Amino acid sequence: MSTHRTYLDHNATAPLRPEAAGAMAVAIGVCGNPSSVHHEGRRARAIIETAREQVAKLVNAKPLEVIFTAGATEANNWVVSGGAWTTILSAEIEHDSVRGPLANSGATLRTLAVSGDGVVPVEEIAHHALSAPATDGRTLVMLQMANNETGVLQPVADAAPICREHGLHIHTDAVQMPGRLSIDFAGLGVDTLSLSSHKLGGPAGAGALIIRDGIKLASFITGGGQERRRRAGTENLIGIAGFGAAAEAASIDVSATARLGRLRDRLEAGIREITPSAVIVGVGSQRLPNTTSVAMPGQAAETLVIKLDLAGFAVSAGAACSSGKVGASHVLTAMGLAPEIANNAIRLSLGWNSSEADVTAFLEVWGVVTRPRALRAVA
Ligand code: PLP
Repeated sequence: MSTHRTYLDHNATAPLRPEAAGAMAVAIGVCGNPSSVHHEGRRARAIIETAREQVAKLVNAKPLEVIFTAGATEANNWVVSGGAWTTILSAEIEHDSVRGPLANSGATLRTLAVSGDGVVPVEEIAHHALSAPATDGRTLVMLQMANNETGVLQPVADAAPICREHGLHIHTDAVQMPGRLSIDFAGLGVDTLSLSSHKLGGPAGAGALIIRDGIKLASFITGGGQERRRRAGTENLIGIAGFGAAAEAASIDVSATARLGRLRDRLEAGIREITPSAVIVGVGSQRLPNTTSVAMPGQAAETLVIKLDLAGFAVSAGAACSSGKVGASHVLTAMGLAPEIANNAIRLSLGWNSSEADVTAFLEVWGVVTRPRALRAVA
């Protein structure tokens, strides 16, 4: 097993940025409760409010629109549970933190169709928006910005004005965007947007729901009056400090999109050259610049992941593995991909510390790990 590691799994979790580690080290030394009025409490409060400004700046929102949560799973669950929705529209490609709470929402669920390239056509939203009983303001549309498995982008900017015009609440899961593509919350015109700290180089266990000024949403976690009475519980000071610093580092790194795109394009060109039978999923769509979902027909994803791990590379299988059972990815299945693609896709995802050397090293082993085993001579 190789001792040198190359991390190509930023969409699962990104390595902690040094800026986040530094901010967390400072916050560890602060003992006050941010709700306390004394000096220690005010120091903690200042850390939280700095982080709020940093996260707001990352997505072009107002600081008062940023509500800290324990991650994007909580933020997505909150939106589903907080609106007393009568109808919810969503596609099968959404993350499980959106799909999971739908069944208990009490709403009528409508499924948005997905194209073979992984996109929900904006006409599909318009069609449902016109036929949904939207006048009561209790219809929710959930449309992610970028898919975590394929990197395919959704037409959120086109869907938002349609939803607004017809009185539908539009929520977008933007977890995979920061550090890869910029987000303009104010310009998009969505009502709510979820973020996760650990996908952008902050610690896990922190995230945010961005709620457009004036939008009403019942609290998901109730108790104390924290977060403008919207999300109870003493704030995760250290996590939020790291989240804010990571958000600021991602905001400042304006060349990330172009840099990641160059690395990803070189990676895909190399894969195609070495293994012409490789299928790159969603290649016909607009995608995140950091994500490649690639299937080798006839080669099981989990075998490739293990071979790559032994060779020193951390990548993910597209297929979900739970209770020892490996199934096709719900995202790739929703795209209508053949089982030999849907079962065999692996995901390579780059990020803030990925380098040309990582791509070179990966391409050096790709031909070896994908080589079919030599046939044994039969006695
Ligand atoms: N949404 C998407 C698209 C994700 O990729 C993830 C993480 O895998 C989440 C939501 C959940 O985020 P968290 O880990 O902060 O709960």
